[in-house]
Amino acid sequence: MIYLHVPFCHRKCTYCAFYSKPVVGGQWPVDSYVDALLAEMELRSGEQPHPIRTVYFGGGTPSILPLKELGRIVEALHRCFDLSRIEEFTLEANPEDLTPDYLSGLIALGVNRLSIGIQSLDDEMLRLLNRRHTARQALDALENARRAGFHNISVDFIYGLPADFQFSVFNFQLITHLSAYALTVEPGTALDVQVRQGRVALPDDEEVVRQYHALRQQFEEAGFRQYEVSNYARPGFESKHNSRYWDRTPYLGLGPGAHSFDGRRRRWNLPDNQLYISTLTSKTSLSSSTSLSSPPSPYFEEETLTSADAINELLLTSLRTVHGLSLSAIPQEYRDALLEKIQPYLACGWLTQAPKTQNSEIGIQHSELFFRPTPEGLLHADGMAAALFV
Ligand code: SF4
Repeated sequence: MIYLHVPFCHRKCTYCAFYSKPVVGGQWPVDSYVDALLAEMELRSGEQPHPIRTVYFGGGTPSILPLKELGRIVEALHRCFDLSRIEEFTLEANPEDLTPDYLSGLIALGVNRLSIGIQSLDDEMLRLLNRRHTARQALDALENARRAGFHNISVDFIYGLPADFQFSVFNFQLITHLSAYALTVEPGTALDVQVRQGRVALPDDEEVVRQYHALRQQFEEAGFRQYEVSNYARPGFESKHNSRYWDRTPYLGLGPGAHSFDGRRRRWNLPDNQLYISTLTSKTSLSSSTSLSSPPSPYFEEETLTSADAINELLLTSLRTVHGLSLSAIPQEYRDALLEKIQPYLACGWLTQAPKTQNSEIGIQHSELFFRPTPEGLLHADGMAAALFV
């Protein structure tokens, strides 16, 4: 699986702490960014020797890329990797970029899944977040995407805003997947300043939890099943790409700020567009030794996971999904301590202990146990995982 990071946006949303640079006055180094991305692709093509199943353009705002530049990237992907078995090719997009021509161009490039950042259906909330689109534009983008031939469309919503969600104008039939994220106030963002200065008042935790449950119920009534803390899908439309992150499948991340994982090591490109572009487009600074196994080069860092790191990562990801944690995935020497620490979460109803799922002939063993978070437990998944860390 391949992730490509597009670290540019038309402007900065007030809540955003992702690595992305706003395009100032329409000027941005799109050519040199794509040149650098292509250079990184060439250098690292050997790191994904197997057929690629999923490609994901994330950001930032990937739909800021003109079709011509996207075409160069897709052509290079085909040159460097085996895409003959591709199952899912996702591009994150903002509604205002999705004109009929742009959408047809995406289809022609092989994109078969769109993830559209709608965030809210209330224009006042959209202005508060400094989004560029209106609710009407978001609804039009969805209709246009279906008309262009997209049959797999995900949308993002944000809850925990001052106004509650109203879905009266929203047609759930147009989408197959949705993500709902609780608004968080990240230090250093514009929203952080607005809240501290008292210019924006956000709902308290109790209200945010109420909104989570209300949304969950609404989505389930519309035919979506929650399969991760923030993600809901119609049957068969769970995100293949993101599900593989949670399974800890190795992946290759390209672009400034992108992360990679080879099963043992994590590597991250530094979130610095200038450094990325200058390093990768300067022939003299590159050597053939920039693979995941090489010493750190100036544009990335890496670390090898200890077995404790790997277990803790597994706890963090598995307790965020409805599939939960299989005890058989935990090395024997950690199981007794983990089972003891899990008991309070079973008692308070945040986890359920699923019946054995295999090997009935020799009786129930630890290795057959699954611990699955309840809807309430999903809300507390990160804290629960941290408390279970080995
Ligand atoms: S469009 Fe997305 S990545 Fe860009 S500033 Fe807004 S939230 Fe951040």
